This record gives sequence, C-alpha cells and structure tokens, in this order.
Amino acid sequence: MNKIIAANWKMNNLKRDIDDFLDKFNKNRESINYKNREILIAPVSIYFDYFKNKVEKYKLNIQVGLQNCHYEDKGAFTGEISPLMVADINADFVIIGHSERRNLFKEDDEFINKKLIATLQKNIKTIFCIGEKLEQRENNETFDILKSQIENGLKNIPNALISNLIVAYEPVWAIGTGKTATVNQIEEVHDFIKDFFKKNIAINLPILYGGSVKPSNIKDIINVNSVDGVLVGGASLKFEDFQKIINFDKE
Ligand code: PEP
Repeated sequence: MNKIIAANWKMNNLKRDIDDFLDKFNKNRESINYKNREILIAPVSIYFDYFKNKVEKYKLNIQVGLQNCHYEDKGAFTGEISPLMVADINADFVIIGHSERRNLFKEDDEFINKKLIATLQKNIKTIFCIGEKLEQRENNETFDILKSQIENGLKNIPNALISNLIVAYEPVWAIGTGKTATVNQIEEVHDFIKDFFKKNIAINLPILYGGSVKPSNIKDIINVNSVDGVLVGGASLKFEDFQKIINFDKE
C-alpha cells in the first residue's frame, strides 16, 4: 500500500502563500520522493481552483481536496458546500468529521454519518477522522470511543462503498498542541482499527495518523507497521517542512 501524506490547511494560507508553496514545490520537484507515496492537500475551499490550476500548470503530482462538506446536494444551507459540488469541481478527496468540526461546530456522529453516506455514494474519496479527547484517554475509554465513532459514522453504509474510505486516527489532545502520541500508543490504536475493519467488513483500509506530525517525528510514526500515512496540519503549511515530511526516508 502507498503511504499517504495528506495536508489539512484548515483556515490558513492566502493566494500569495499558495504561490510561495507551489512555486517552491515546482522549483524543488526533483527533490521530492514520490515513490510509493501519494500527496494530498486540502487548501481553503475558495482557493480550490486557484490551487488546482497551479498544480496542473506545473504538472505536480498532488491530489487536491476539500476540508468538509454538507450532506445535502443543494438548498438553504448558508455558507455550506454540497457533496454534489465537491464532485462537480472534481475534488480528489474530502475530509469528514475532523475534530475541529466535531468540537467547534458541534457535529455529532449522526451528522457525520449523513455526510459520509453522501460523499461515498458519490464515489468521492473520503478521509474520515476519529479520535478520543484527553479525558476519555485518561478514563480508559479510547477504544470504546473509537468503536462508537466508527460504528455510528458508518451506519447503513454498504461495504462496497467503504473501499473509498481512508480513516484518520487523530487523538484530539495531539492536534495543534505539539504533543504527539507515542509510537506505542499509535500502534496500539492503529492495530485496533485495522482489526475492527478486517473482522467486521473484511477490508484493509488505509489508516492515517494525525496530531502534531512534524519533520522531527515523521520517520518514527510512518515506520509503525499499521500506519499507512499521516494527516498533517501545522507542519504542512510551509513547503520546507512539508517537503521533509514527504521525504521521510531521506536523511
Ligand atoms: C489536523 O488538523 O488534522 C492536524 C493533525 O493538525 P496538526 O498537525 O497541526 O496537529
């Protein structure tokens, strides 16, 4: 399985930052190791075209996606983006259920389930984020929480559609905090998620780790057997850091 190096830019980076990032990407294209890996970036949605056009102009091997969408195809949902629109603009992927959506915008498992049904039915590659909060980990509830996020998130979704899914395990306490889960904690959870999918759906889905991934820890994390890639926030915003993360196997 290819390693997936995915970037979530959240509400960061203006046009000039996109120019800086992609100009550097292009200038340093020979230094990027594409072998056995896929590079995905989700800029802010209003810059999707700007970003994508530049990726195409430079012929860069980057999949461009969105950070969120609604479940309805159209209607009175001010400020939202529909899954039909995600498909219409040919986005390569969409992120659903990010912990910031869950916690800041109060999206619950039921709402996330409707979105997953909508994106997967449209054959949109979907990164489905799950993860426990600090107090849940401290109360030994991590596995119960993850199991219920998976079961509720994927309710009524036929197995055939799940092959378009990528799961991102992102412990909430590690996102944007500089605190990374230990390699043992990551391995334990990834093994649990892999087993769950193998037993219940007989499918080997890619499982990404997210939470303060940076150039200094990528090598240890990506070398965990059950880690199929990473979802990176802060350290994906500048080309120099992201380049080091993509080139995790270069000294
Ligand atoms: C994220 O937002 O998905 C994330 C993992 O952020 P950070 O890398 O900044 O912790």
